[in-house]
Amino acid sequence: MQRCSICIIPDTFPGVSFTDGVCGFCRTSGTTPQVKRTVLGEGALRELLASGAGGSYDCAVPISGGKDSSYVLYYVVRTLGLRPLALFMDSGFTNDFARRNVERECAALGVALVIGEPTVYRRLLVREALETSKRLGRFVRMCGNCENNIRSFVINECRKHGVPFIIWGSTDFEDSAAYFLSAKATTHRRAFGRFGNVFRRAGKAARTLAGRRRGVADTIVGAAHGLRCLYYGVRDNVASGAPEGARTLNPFLEVSYEGKGVRSLSLFDYVEYDPYPMIETLRREVGWQSPADKESRMDCRIHCFGNFQHLRDTGITRDGFTMAHLVRSGLLSRDEALRREEILARDAEGECREVFDELGVEEAGALAAKPREARVPRT
Ligand SMILES: [Zn+2]
Repeated sequence: MQRCSICIIPDTFPGVSFTDGVCGFCRTSGTTPQVKRTVLGEGALRELLASGAGGSYDCAVPISGGKDSSYVLYYVVRTLGLRPLALFMDSGFTNDFARRNVERECAALGVALVIGEPTVYRRLLVREALETSKRLGRFVRMCGNCENNIRSFVINECRKHGVPFIIWGSTDFEDSAAYFLSAKATTHRRAFGRFGNVFRRAGKAARTLAGRRRGVADTIVGAAHGLRCLYYGVRDNVASGAPEGARTLNPFLEVSYEGKGVRSLSLFDYVEYDPYPMIETLRREVGWQSPADKESRMDCRIHCFGNFQHLRDTGITRDGFTMAHLVRSGLLSRDEALRREEILARDAEGECREVFDELGVEEAGALAAKPREARVPRT
């Protein structure tokens, strides 16, 4: 396996051509909208936020304990001088580092914190998703409902406390290859529409299941687990108080911000995103911590399934794909990205195995098939 000489995309990546050792992403990066990264500026953000001033809180910042949302909270307090309400939704799969980061940062900044606990359905849903995945031969996405839970929690808390704005830390950098290749990704879509293509995903899952030439019994069992997964998703939506009326009963629900009396925005539409200096600031100023060399998406313990599947499909982890984008944008060195990718690729399988064990699901060979060109060459 060869890797792009500019970023770290491997030549095993489907649909990406290489010319003189340079991948298609790098060759076109000057023209895709994601890389232009024009920001609206701090002045525009201050102006917007001032328009909602007057209540007990200027804005709400949903935090996960990960680097991006932690930085948003830090920036809102220390740079903008605002009074935010911090909102932390525990998914039930929160990494210990992340939970400690949330508490430590809120104490350091003197910010009021509301913690939302997961419903019992979240774990049941993930359990069923793993059972389905085993029969599909690939891991299905398990994050959609968690995102719904977070949105419900955040919207409901904002209404309760009369908070006019929600400020997220989402960026285009974590968009998948499909979004990237389609060149349609925008921060808006990232923040508002990630759960929107579930129908397409469900159709793909059905075709994959049918195409696996599994035994009839296995296919039926897989489909039954898939249906239970959807059922728990609906129960989860209801139990988490999704503010969507009858739509809450839609298993493919995407909780929307429209008509909720609160405005949602991303800090990084206004302020340059530069993750590694951000991490240094957080470590120094609020005692932020992460596992060694895993600062990205370390907040969630089931994030590993996405990394594992992406590695198996393309030869690079999902986080590695994000890092390639950072390299291309001059925000991370190629050597450093390679080193981190090697660690992610090495650890993904073991981290997935821990979740199987924790939930009492037989892994049954689901992790046995070797990822596509899994070994990362030394440089
Ligand atoms: Zn490249």
